[in-house]
Amino acid sequence: MAPSAISTDRIKKAVVDAHKKHKSKRGGKNASYIPILGQVPSKLFGVCVATVDGQIFTAGDARYEFALESISKVFTLGLVIEQRGPEQFRGKVGVDPTGHPFNSVLALELHNDKPMSPLVNAGAISTISLVEAIDAEDRWRQILGVQGDFAGRPISMSEAINASEQATNFRNRAIAWLLRDGGYIYCDPMEACDIYTRQCSTLVTTVDLAVMGATLANGGSNPLTGTKVIARANVAHVLAQMAMEGVYTRSGDWAYTVGLPAKSGVGGGLVAVAPGQLAIAAFSPPLDEAGNSVRAQAAVAQIAHTLQLGLFNVPPRNE
Ligand code: GLN
Repeated sequence: MAPSAISTDRIKKAVVDAHKKHKSKRGGKNASYIPILGQVPSKLFGVCVATVDGQIFTAGDARYEFALESISKVFTLGLVIEQRGPEQFRGKVGVDPTGHPFNSVLALELHNDKPMSPLVNAGAISTISLVEAIDAEDRWRQILGVQGDFAGRPISMSEAINASEQATNFRNRAIAWLLRDGGYIYCDPMEACDIYTRQCSTLVTTVDLAVMGATLANGGSNPLTGTKVIARANVAHVLAQMAMEGVYTRSGDWAYTVGLPAKSGVGGGLVAVAPGQLAIAAFSPPLDEAGNSVRAQAAVAQIAHTLQLGLFNVPPRNE
């Protein structure tokens, strides 16, 4: 496997420095609309880089398990593009950013109930309904399985987080019924919503998240286990979606300032992918207004800048 072009010393230092610099950064609040997320200690902060040749660099609380939440949308998207092909997926869900918050009903109204993006709640629920499954159990088993393949270890769901989400997911249920009305849900709407809620309630560490991202950076093969999770050609489609909608209404700002495809979750996780090189993950519960972790964004941005990873950077020309 091709070694990462950046020296291990530079990566190690970048990870430690980013953690140190942003450890006491203030601002943001834990998500509280899912009650159990409000109880996670706000000062937790983990940072990790995983490279395509399987090296791992950590700082802080990188082994603490937290709820994957919206980052789960990325892996189910990969699974469904594999099964249905990119063209069918584009027609049935859509691949354009909504420009609206992740749980927007207005975004559906504006597009005849078409979800548009697989990385907002509506699009994720629609995507789940496209998993080729014989029943609900099979659908769930495949989704959990693909999360584990990306992470390189079995992933499991937290019963407590799932219970807290299921007790409060009224808005997502409404979204699932609107999708049904518009013809953009392809199984029982409540089955899709239930599995969406479960896929958000799985537990990962910052290290898992970095390995999941590194699997994308590595063309769809897990750098730790060697498992081929998705086809190289499909990784490009997944990363494009992360670039367009990965940090919701801040996605444009993120592209402008950082320039890497990324995905956040309201559990406080964030992962960014430098294709062919590495993934940067960070976790800290307090979120900005868009639903992105304040410390994680700062740490990931700093590492991307230090290692000059932005995809839009034009290398200087030797004249
Ligand atoms: N389970 C959460 C929800 O549906 C996930 C949202 C997120 O992480 N942005 O609201």
